[in-house]
Amino acid sequence: MRRTLRLKSDEGGLAEAAAILSRGGLVAFPTETVYGLGADATNAEAVAGIYAAKERPSFNPLISHLDSLEAAQVQGLFDETARRLAEAFWPGPLTLVVPVAPTCTVSDLARAGLDSVGLRVPAHPLAHALLKATGRPVAAPSANRSGRVSPTDADHVLGDLDGRIDAVLDGGASDVGVESTIVACLGGSPRLLRPGGVPREAIEALIGQPLEGGHGGEENPLAPGMLASHYAPRAQVRLNATEIRPGEAALLFGTAPLRDEEQAKARLNLSENGDLQEAAAHLFSYLRRLDASGAETIAVAPVPEAGLGEAINDRLRRAAAQR
Ligand code: AMP
Ligand code: MG
Repeated sequence: MRRTLRLKSDEGGLAEAAAILSRGGLVAFPTETVYGLGADATNAEAVAGIYAAKERPSFNPLISHLDSLEAAQVQGLFDETARRLAEAFWPGPLTLVVPVAPTCTVSDLARAGLDSVGLRVPAHPLAHALLKATGRPVAAPSANRSGRVSPTDADHVLGDLDGRIDAVLDGGASDVGVESTIVACLGGSPRLLRPGGVPREAIEALIGQPLEGGHGGEENPLAPGMLASHYAPRAQVRLNATEIRPGEAALLFGTAPLRDEEQAKARLNLSENGDLQEAAAHLFSYLRRLDASGAETIAVAPVPEAGLGEAINDRLRRAAAQR
């Protein structure tokens, strides 16, 4: 348990909130949609803390919040349509999913390993001031425990997360109460990934064409291949390995050695100390590095199912089931 501070929405409170974020802590803050649970998006361990606090059983890509379109363009590549949408609806409840820019600093974990990044410039004055003071992208899903309703004031946040996060910036009630509209601009026609605060009609009027998708939502995603919603390694993934077979790469956890570990083509340890938050922070980047070793198969040591282990194992099982 840590003590959760309730910070006032004055200059001192904002400075404290920004300082906590900058050192890797978790701060809930108001946006015009719902209260978000923020962490420095460039710091994968801080992002892992979001999943731990929310007790989320799986990793999905998080939205990174910024204070300006200029800051967003450091993170993502905006085509003509994305730029026009951003200019028209930012700051506001619109999230754009765009390809990562070469200068992107948003961590692999915040992007769930994908080559795209979800970006938003919120309009709430406190959120804006906090992002400005923090000076880096802030990953923030809704500030509730997994499976509970999204919070629209600081008391809701504390009801769910008191003792699990460092602070909540109290800005009173948020006014939209619905989530951001999510539009993917990944080449080709823009697609509606989730309806939300900005109506579809307003977006279609601006771009002069109908948006694809949007009738399925997150539960019933677009046709396969239209948007890769999960990172998948090229190599096969073999779970709960107790030994390394010839030609395999090894993804280890903790200190217990695997048989014939030395013959691995490449070897990385998610966390030698057996720390699940550190393991979550390394998961996507290590999978990519082992994939790049050219091994046919990545053998993965057992990871305990407790806490963040559930989300880690969920992702590893999906990777293993890929083919
Ligand atoms: P939220 O729960 O409001 O933080 O929204 C998170 C949702 O944003 C995810 O479940 C995705 O649907 C979407 N999203 C964010 N980033 C990406 C991305 N890089 N690619 C695809 N979808 C994304
Ligand atoms: Mg939520």
